[in-house]
Amino acid sequence: MSIDGGERVIRHQLLVVGGGLAGLRAAVEAKGAGIDVAILSQVHPGRSHSGAAQGGINAALANNPEGHDDTAEKHAFDTVKGSDYLADQDAVYQMTQDAPRVIFEMEHWGCPFSRYDDGRISQRPFGGAGFPRTCYGADKTGHYLLHTLVEQAYRRQVTMYIEQFVTGLIVADGRCRGAVAYDMIRGGFEAFVADAVIIATGGAGRTYSNTTNAIISTGYGAAMAYQAGVPLKDMEFIQFHPTGLYSTNILMTEGCRGEGAYLLNDLGERFMERYAPKMMELAPRDITARSIWTEILEGRGIGGKGFVYLDLRHLGEKKIAEKLPGIRDLAIHFEGVDPVTDPVPIVPSQHYTMGGIDTDADGRSAMPGLYAAGECACVSVHGANRLGGNSLLETIVFGRRAGRAVTSELEGLDGRVAVDEAAREALGAVQARVDRLARSAASDDAYAIRADMIDIMKTHFGIFREARQMQEGIDKLFALKERLPFIGLRHAGGVFNLDMIRTIELEGMLDVALATAVGAFRRTESRGSHARTDYPNRDDEHWLSHTLATWRPGGPPALSAAPVGLGMFEPQERKY
Ligand SMILES: Cc1cc2nc3c(=O)[nH]c(=O)nc-3n(C[C@H](O)[C@H](O)[C@H](O)COP(=O)(O)OP(=O)(O)OC[C@H]3O[C@@H](n4cnc5c(N)ncnc54)[C@H](O)[C@@H]3O)c2cc1C
Repeated sequence: MSIDGGERVIRHQLLVVGGGLAGLRAAVEAKGAGIDVAILSQVHPGRSHSGAAQGGINAALANNPEGHDDTAEKHAFDTVKGSDYLADQDAVYQMTQDAPRVIFEMEHWGCPFSRYDDGRISQRPFGGAGFPRTCYGADKTGHYLLHTLVEQAYRRQVTMYIEQFVTGLIVADGRCRGAVAYDMIRGGFEAFVADAVIIATGGAGRTYSNTTNAIISTGYGAAMAYQAGVPLKDMEFIQFHPTGLYSTNILMTEGCRGEGAYLLNDLGERFMERYAPKMMELAPRDITARSIWTEILEGRGIGGKGFVYLDLRHLGEKKIAEKLPGIRDLAIHFEGVDPVTDPVPIVPSQHYTMGGIDTDADGRSAMPGLYAAGECACVSVHGANRLGGNSLLETIVFGRRAGRAVTSELEGLDGRVAVDEAAREALGAVQARVDRLARSAASDDAYAIRADMIDIMKTHFGIFREARQMQEGIDKLFALKERLPFIGLRHAGGVFNLDMIRTIELEGMLDVALATAVGAFRRTESRGSHARTDYPNRDDEHWLSHTLATWRPGGPPALSAAPVGLGMFEPQERKY
């Protein structure tokens, strides 16, 4: 590492943008192979949103007495069926085959999984799974996994630049050569030059108002790649988790239903019997969220209101304390309801971005030198609907694969790149942009635009979609884009200027929202999480394909189709 006098140009072989599970696992892999790797993260890696994951991580260990026959093939089948046959089947199989190894590696690195009396890792049932295969640590699985990997990164002395907000990529001669970041502590911009970059910046939940995601899950990392010319894939597929708290959308894990919780409507009915008589509350999330929403729309929400109940009372205080202690705390503190004594009001809430930066199974994007892994990427292993417990698995499996692939690419590269003009140009461009925002008379307000955007996404691109309503939403999003030249900064300070970060993020978030919106409008079928009332059926003849959105300055993205990787499982009607 070196810092050029005055210019703040810092060099490493590999930059990993994002210190969640995917970024950490990639960095651990590359550093272990001798690569000089640095993580750039907006927050301390231990505070990344992966730490919020509650319910668990899937692997066909066959530890649960009811899951002795489980295999990687069955895990792959459930995943592909859950994806409504849009996932790439070879990538899915790579993931499910690697899953047991991932769990044992994390176990050996010290992850405190919950265990059976005989010491083996416990597994609970999760939605859409034929066997109980979700490994967990009570309801704090993400926290345990994340801190295990943070330790491994420290152990290998991975360099970490913390509280660095990456604003854009450095691209020279068509290759990604690094990134520019705002150093929140120092209060200036720095160029990080590298031979390759892995983006691992998490999901885009904050483009919706009703999300379970943290404030930093904005999709901005995906937007950086998109604006640099890398396509986003399948952005129209947005997961709504069935059970967010009614007042705040804070998640009540699927592990609640895995442990036996019921969903009840105003008549006290376990209404899932109508929609998924076999799997009941453990149907996949797309079907369960639609079922809850249908109950609400048809007036069977509790007291006719916009929520139903998640009922854990019959599990008893002891089981709740042992398996779901965090859930009880969240329900008490954020909804004022104790699940031991009262049913919990819940509503489907935006939860996961199935689409993302288009990559292959080794994290490679269309731009040489640029890789992506985790929720910001689309490999694709989730297709049109992700199964619970598969995302934590994806971050680790494909984070590692990206770290490996980049290592072998860098081993073949001849030396480090020179500090080039591109780095200085990228630095100059962001500085000019911020100066312009700071000087702007600001006749419009970035926060008002953001509030409108997240409301438009909730209202026009929600659980059920329809052409006229989506066209209106697209028009409104374009109208918001036209207001961007009139915004400015409220706060001109250099240090910890969160106002500047929020303002810079906005344009990228709008582009990501538009990729979702335009992709959803174009796809005239219903598949997985994309449910159209005007096209209620899946249409394999015309739409068994991925959507690629390519950014165009000013206009809507250019959309094209890419083939789905089939071969193991023939598409069938999904019944649960
Ligand atoms: C409440 C909740 C519960 C969940 N429970 C489960 C579960 O039980 N099982 C499961 O499989 N999945 C679960 N998921 C999904 C899963 O947790 C996430 O998909 C996964 O953890 C994402 O990991 P990641 O590494 O891709 O990103 P994150 O963990 O979100 O990390 C993103 C990183 O990028 C950094 N970053 C972002 N933008 C920038 C920028 N511009 N500059 C610098 N740094 C940046 C952040 O600082 C952070 O370090 C849950 C999700 C939520 C919201």
